[in-house]
Amino acid sequence: MLPLRSQSQVGGLQTSLSLVSSDPVLSPDEPRSNSDNLRQSPAESASSQETWPTADAATTKKTENGKAEINCLEQNVIHRFSSADKVTLQDIARESIGTICEKMHRLPEEYLEELKNGLRVILDGGNGSQHREEFFILQKFVQGRTDLTAKTLVRAHRVQLEILVAINTGIQGFLHPSISLSQNSLIEIFGYKRCRNIACQNQLPADDCTCEICNGTTGFCNLCMCVICNKFDFEVNTCRWIGCDLCSHWTHTDCAIRQQLIFMGPSSKSGAGPSEMVFRCQACNRTSELLGWVKDVFQHCAPSWDGEALMRELDYVSRIFHGSKDPRGRKLFWKCDDLKEKLKTKKIDSKAACRAILMFFQGTGNLVFMSFYIKDKELSRFYNFVFFISIEFYVYIFTRLVKK
Ligand SMILES: [Zn+2]
Ligand SMILES: [Zn+2]
Ligand SMILES: [Zn+2]
Ligand SMILES: [Zn+2]
Repeated sequence: MLPLRSQSQVGGLQTSLSLVSSDPVLSPDEPRSNSDNLRQSPAESASSQETWPTADAATTKKTENGKAEINCLEQNVIHRFSSADKVTLQDIARESIGTICEKMHRLPEEYLEELKNGLRVILDGGNGSQHREEFFILQKFVQGRTDLTAKTLVRAHRVQLEILVAINTGIQGFLHPSISLSQNSLIEIFGYKRCRNIACQNQLPADDCTCEICNGTTGFCNLCMCVICNKFDFEVNTCRWIGCDLCSHWTHTDCAIRQQLIFMGPSSKSGAGPSEMVFRCQACNRTSELLGWVKDVFQHCAPSWDGEALMRELDYVSRIFHGSKDPRGRKLFWKCDDLKEKLKTKKIDSKAACRAILMFFQGTGNLVFMSFYIKDKELSRFYNFVFFISIEFYVYIFTRLVKK
């Protein structure tokens, strides 16, 4: 993801392209071990389907084991308590902070862990629609309450708070044993004052942004979430996200294409000049050029992509430039399609394809498509004319010399 493009491209790009691992997005008062955990198991904290996180295979396996353990625990633990002492997830979602907190203080650690595991299983959604329904019922209870405020939540039991935050956000990361946010952070996340993305956790509105989306969308964080779908994920070093050159807010490429925010138009930098493929940011309503951005992403990230990633990125680029009508955009579209085809039919390997696309970008940078950078339309046409005439002239001279 790109920050303001006016910043140093290399530094800016790398900081912002590594959302999960970069420190600036972590609030300094939070334990660093959180980010380390996230790097190992991002699916644990959240995915782009935040309200219904999908766990990776490892997590699912772990949960199944956990489930087995829960059953054993249930046998051991539940019998020791009368039904009056027991607390269920529904109780936590419905009953007052004080009542549940008091009961929880009397319950053993194992029982509370079991409750958290139970919610993790539900959030995993392994049981399909039944779990989904259970989750929505819990969430409806929690979100329908007016007594859950910063003032009352201060008195909540730690596990009670973790469970309430997990239900409210749908993110099971808050239940993970190795993730321990401060009580205050959890309360702020619950109240949408802090980003729910555990790898971000920025105060909201991020960067004190005054735009309509940051101020009108509950829980929206402009540092890590998509302006259109309001979701975040852990994809970095990719053309999957488009950053606005002007306000630095982010949009999924897919969301931008779906909403027809990618089209031919003058870039806001030049204001005039020939049309090119641009992206209109929904947050500031201004446009950013796309070819330079794609070029930056490829130049900085392509060498680290494997074959599959390269294929996916080429696919993003060809979808972005699908409707391009300017020569550079068309060429890029054809080039991507050509490389995709060659990769599919194994005519070239991913290393060669990577070299080819980087050479292509090198070429577009050096080739004198001067018109693009010249504000005055007439002047740019003139330069283009002079450029092509001179090329023709050199080709003519060259062929004459070769013939001799
Ligand atoms: Zn904003
Ligand atoms: Zn965030
Ligand atoms: Zn989106
Ligand atoms: Zn913008």
